[in-house]
This record gives sequence, structure tokens and C-alpha cells, in this order.
Amino acid sequence: MGIIRPLDEHLANQIAAGEVVERPASVLKELIENAVDAGASRIDVSAEEGGLALLRIADDGTGIEADDMLVAFQRHATSKIATGKDLFQIATLGFRGEALPSIAAVAKIKCVSSTDNSGLGRCVEIEGGALVANKEINAPKGTEMVVRDLFFNTPARLKYMKTIQTELGHLSDVVYRQALARPDIAFTFTHNGNLLLRTPGNGDLRQVVAAIYGTSSAKATIALQAEHPDYSLTGVTALPSETRANRGAVTVLVNGRYVRSQAVMQPLLQAYHTLLPLHRYPLAVLRLTMHPTLVDVNVHPAKLEVRFSKENELRSFVEQAVKEALGGRAHIPSGAATR
Ligand code: ADP
Ligand code: MG
Repeated sequence: MGIIRPLDEHLANQIAAGEVVERPASVLKELIENAVDAGASRIDVSAEEGGLALLRIADDGTGIEADDMLVAFQRHATSKIATGKDLFQIATLGFRGEALPSIAAVAKIKCVSSTDNSGLGRCVEIEGGALVANKEINAPKGTEMVVRDLFFNTPARLKYMKTIQTELGHLSDVVYRQALARPDIAFTFTHNGNLLLRTPGNGDLRQVVAAIYGTSSAKATIALQAEHPDYSLTGVTALPSETRANRGAVTVLVNGRYVRSQAVMQPLLQAYHTLLPLHRYPLAVLRLTMHPTLVDVNVHPAKLEVRFSKENELRSFVEQAVKEALGGRAHIPSGAATR
């Protein structure tokens, strides 16, 4: 008799959670992305104890149909893609249908959602993969996700969590990048009752930069605007006088998705060339748009890495665009080292 059998769904979800849910910030990223995909104009985030005790994400997006509430927590269930062709032109942030079942497998999650303004909605609660409530409830249009006690049933994972301050740093990073990606969405972020970020949601990127990095840093940036048959670039990049000790203030967005990409980072730094002192980096937000077939986002479960099909063209486009923006405005700061 054979000994191979498929994993039961609960176990499969726990294993997937190991990849999708590394720490509180990974939960937050998935839930903010869902709110963005739902067309929210407002996303309110609050966290307690670095997100390990609680994460709450409320949006005013489309909401989830009552009949879909449990389906949304099933593995590989998604409303975002349907055919293999869709996979090569992904226009949403999510598409794997893995986040909700993975989070529900390793935390206590409550989802309250309504698709209309009737004042009525649905509430589903799942703890460690087990359904504990499914009922009608009063709710405004949109979705609220509350995640408590992350990793309560996976002590080995919990043990690896860093200090609250470190986890908070990762949470802030997620909120900041998403706020920079979508200046048209009003974000708030509260930790242990302290308001850490509020963006106006009026579409003005500089105001988001000011809310995150401060008004004077925002003033020391210049606008980017460049076109190419395959790409377009908007955003801001810092005057060479406004430099940082690391690359953390460079945000690269590809079709609205925050990514880490050497293919964009390197030409950005190249464009500054000798204008930046050694080991100093600019503050920059590069918003690239391109046809979805030119970028493969299906490379990594957290979707932080992407592959470009015409990488060399992209590199020279970015370098040229940043150089032109800097042209004339740039000066060599005193004490600058050449490299
Ligand atoms: P994916 O985002 O890859 O589709 P998820 O597990 O993150 O997978 O979510 C499953 C489905 O639940 C989504 O496809 C979407 O239909 C629905 N959903 C999740 N969060 C929200 C939300 N905030 N607003 C509306 N629908 C949502
Ligand atoms: Mg998702």
C-alpha cells in the first residue's frame, strides 16, 4: 500500500503561512494590499505591541459579499485572476489567494465586511484555522480585519520575533511604502495609541513625502517626469544636498507595487555619479509604469522581487531620466568624495 497522501487543508495552510507570514509586517503588507485592491480611498491601520498583539486594518473599499466571506479564507481562492493568461498581466497587488488562509492559520482573525450602505454586514472569526463565528453584524461599507495574537499556535515562530521596536520599524516601513505608492489614498497609522502617520489622500506625492520624511526633506526634492515607448517615470528625487546614510529612503514602485530592484536602484545612483558623497544615498520615490507583460511579479511569495523583460533598456531609461531631472539643479556638495 502506498504511503503518499495529500496534506489536509489546515496543515497545508500552516506550511504556506511559513512562507507568506514571516512577521507582523508581512501580515500588514498583505492586508493593506487587499484594501488597495478593493479600491479603498481611506485605509486606517492600528497596531499594538509591534503588531504581535494586534493589527487592525479598516478600509472603505468594495467589501466582501456575505456568500464569499468563507471562500476568501480558502486556499488559492481569489477574485483577482481566473485564467493562466491573467497571470502574465497582473494589474492587482494580490493574486495568489494565499494571504487570508495563511494568516488565519497562525493567528486569531476577525473579518467584518459589507458591500453596501445598508448598515448590515457579515462577521467571520477564525482562530488557528478553526471557524469560531460567522454571523450578521452592523457594519459600514468596506472591510475591517483584526488580527490578534500572531503565532499563538506556532511558538517556534513566535520565539524568533525581535523587539517591539524592531517589529514596529518593519510595520512603519510597510505603511510608508504603500502611502508613497498611493498618494490618492488617505492613510493613518497608529501604534499603541500614538498617531505615527496621516496622509491627506489628495494625490500629492510631495505631501506624503513631507508626512513621512519631514517638510524640509520634501522641499529638497525635485520632480521626475519622463516618457519612453515602454515605460513612464514620475516621482521625486532629492537634491544632492539631501542625502542619507543608507538606501532605505529610496522607494521603487513598479505599476504601484513596492519592489526591491537593483535594476532600478543602480541606475538611480549612477545618475548622481559624483554628486553624492561616498556612502551617501538620495531620498527618492521612483514610480515606474509599464505594460504588465514587461514585468514578472510572480517570482517570490512576498512579491518583493520582480523580473523585467527588457532590463537594459529600463536601466538606461532610469539613469537618463534622473540625470536630466538633476541637470543644472545639481551641485557638488562641499566635502564630496569622488568615486
Ligand atoms: P488575493 O489578494 O491574492 O486574492 P487574499 O487571500 O489576500 O488573496 O484574499 C482573498 C480574497 O478576499 C481576495 O481575492 C478578495 O476578493 C477578498 N478580499 C480580501 N481582503 C479584502 C478587502 N479588504 N476588501 C475586499 N475584498 C477583500
Ligand atoms: Mg491579498
